[in-house]
Amino acid sequence: MNGKVAIVTGGSSGIGKASAFRLASNGAQVVVVSRNEEKGKKVADEICSEGGKAIYIQADVSKLEDIDRMVEEVVNKFGRIDILVNAAGISFKSTPTEYVSEEEWDKTLNINLKGAFFCSQRVARVMINQKYGKIINVGSLQGEMVLPLRAAYAASKGGLKQVTKSMAVEWAKYNINVNVVAPGFVRTPMTEKVLNDEFWYNVVRSKTPLGRPAEPEEIADVILFLASDAASYITGQTIVVDGGWTAGDAVEIK
Ligand code: NAP
Repeated sequence: MNGKVAIVTGGSSGIGKASAFRLASNGAQVVVVSRNEEKGKKVADEICSEGGKAIYIQADVSKLEDIDRMVEEVVNKFGRIDILVNAAGISFKSTPTEYVSEEEWDKTLNINLKGAFFCSQRVARVMINQKYGKIINVGSLQGEMVLPLRAAYAASKGGLKQVTKSMAVEWAKYNINVNVVAPGFVRTPMTEKVLNDEFWYNVVRSKTPLGRPAEPEEIADVILFLASDAASYITGQTIVVDGGWTAGDAVEIK
């Protein structure tokens, strides 16, 4: 990763934060992007205090003007963008599909799908010129199968999987790899409430053959791999990192 410039949206928390640390500790110059400046700056400062290279740029990925400003700032400062990790995302509380509000639908799709799409599009224009790039979209188990009461979230992650394939096939000629990492349950602020509830923690455990949720670093390691040249022949794929959840039910029937 030495000398590589990597943008990590959602880099202030959870999976994005772990990815920012992993990329920086492997030599990349990291750009942490999020809405909350205080949290994001803190992560960039922590990376620097550990000997890594990181800066923070405040941006809301659901706003095109923010994306354009962010990309312009990175190009002005570093002259190139080698890696983009689209980890910014939100999840609403469980809602029966018949009661999903327009607000839930719009916010979820605007951040999880539109945000990742336009960050990729704007960054790809830079990558196309340099004929090199790695884009990693953070999808979900729920792009593969669905859990009840999460229709808008499932739509955003299912859509992300498909646009990843479109980008991969169109941009392969420019030496740009585009892939999805699709985690199962990961211990982050997003899932804190569910995983701190004993009943739901046991549900997650019982549905997961490996018997536990993932730590964010276990997802970041796969993101690091896809961002590296070790993954140069992988594109348009979804790598599911779910402890075996989608492989089959872990409950043994006697
Ligand atoms: P998290 O800890 O809540 O982190 C979400 C990050 O996204 C924060 O840095 C947040 O910062 C940023 N963000 C949210 N909206 C944004 C916006 N409009 N513009 C810019 N940044 C924004 O969540 P996480 O669990 O790490 O989730 C990261 C990704 O993994 C998401 O796409 C999520 O859907 C996916 N995922 C998570 C799990 C899981 O079990 N945790 C499982 C599957 C997939 P600000 O709020 O300051 O903007």
